[in-house]
Amino acid sequence: MKKRIGLLYGGKSAEHEVSLSTATAVSKAIDYDKYEVHPIYITLDGQWLRGPQLTKPVESIEQLQFTSESKLPNNITEFILDKNIQVQFDVVFPLLHGTNGEDGTVQGLLEVLDYPYVGNGVLASSAGMDKVIMKQLFEIAGLKQVPYVYFIRQEWNQQQMQILEKCQQKLNWPMFVKPANLGSSVGISKASNEKELIDAIQFAFQYDRKVIVEQGVKAREIEMGVLGNNNPKVSVAGEIKPMTEFYDYDSKYKDGSTVLIIPAEISSSVEATMKDMAIRAFKILDCSGLVRSDFFVTEHDEVYINEVNTMPGFTPVSMYPLLWQHTGVSYPELIDTLIELAIERHTEKQ
Ligand code: ATP
Ligand code: MG
Ligand code: MG
Ligand code: MG
Repeated sequence: MKKRIGLLYGGKSAEHEVSLSTATAVSKAIDYDKYEVHPIYITLDGQWLRGPQLTKPVESIEQLQFTSESKLPNNITEFILDKNIQVQFDVVFPLLHGTNGEDGTVQGLLEVLDYPYVGNGVLASSAGMDKVIMKQLFEIAGLKQVPYVYFIRQEWNQQQMQILEKCQQKLNWPMFVKPANLGSSVGISKASNEKELIDAIQFAFQYDRKVIVEQGVKAREIEMGVLGNNNPKVSVAGEIKPMTEFYDYDSKYKDGSTVLIIPAEISSSVEATMKDMAIRAFKILDCSGLVRSDFFVTEHDEVYINEVNTMPGFTPVSMYPLLWQHTGVSYPELIDTLIELAIERHTEKQ
């Protein structure tokens, strides 16, 4: 019997558009002989729309028609309690990035509904989304990372001078300023002096109530994919060469200028260090399914972990699927494996 897959995409997030490309790509690659595909589109303002069952690849997921009956109640209690509106999915595939999708909130809903779902659980998703919590856990795991300072909006409003002083005491220029909970480089800027730092902090606060300021490193950016549950496997490494000042939103999704080098040219000892760090990061956050670990590698071959992404970019031209392709796992095989891992984790919990 075919497995019924709920394809959850869109989302109330700054990474909505990215999710649309991912969902289109998955619709093109998924095996319709094995799966019944049921799209659920979350609009930018947070409405859940149920689309027609997909029986073949769609050119663009944005062209799907949603009738008014397809609207699921916005009220989540109704959604949970009304069995008529629930489709019984075998697995839900949350192709969502950023807030309300990659951060454990949707994962929590899927737990309550008792659906197996692809990727990380509530804890790993939320810990991985908050760069401060993530770094604190990395510290416990003994992973090398750049120094950082963090604060919430209220502290910034009340103690701006002290915070600026602390940044300059603890960190060297340039600094990278980031909203604590986001992805796709949204809200991130590089600051090379105090004025830029203030502007960057104010900009980051437009996206989050918590901001992190990190010491900038001059380094290559190298990433690895991790796939699995209890015995995670690591992919080959891939290097990103943005042609811009840093790997910002446009270089990720718009101008196509970024070059990906897979496998990355690194020594076997750097590769071994990265593999070990990627697995330790996966374990300390209690990850499952998939994670992309992002590293900085300096010219002296020092390896720093930058972050993990619990729902990395997932189009066939995104780093994570490409890393697996070079490791011998094709895009459709990757989709199959993730669905199997989702079922395995759900079964293990029972
Ligand atoms: P994504 O989830 O899409 O990978 P993100 O929004 O979580 O991105 P980061 O990966 O933390 O953001 O940072 C985005 C980019 O900014 C990095 O890929 C890198 O180019 C640059 N960058 C971030 N932090 C630093 C740093 N400390 N030193 C040097 N460059 C940095
Ligand atoms: Mg990220
Ligand atoms: Mg991300
Ligand atoms: Mg990153």
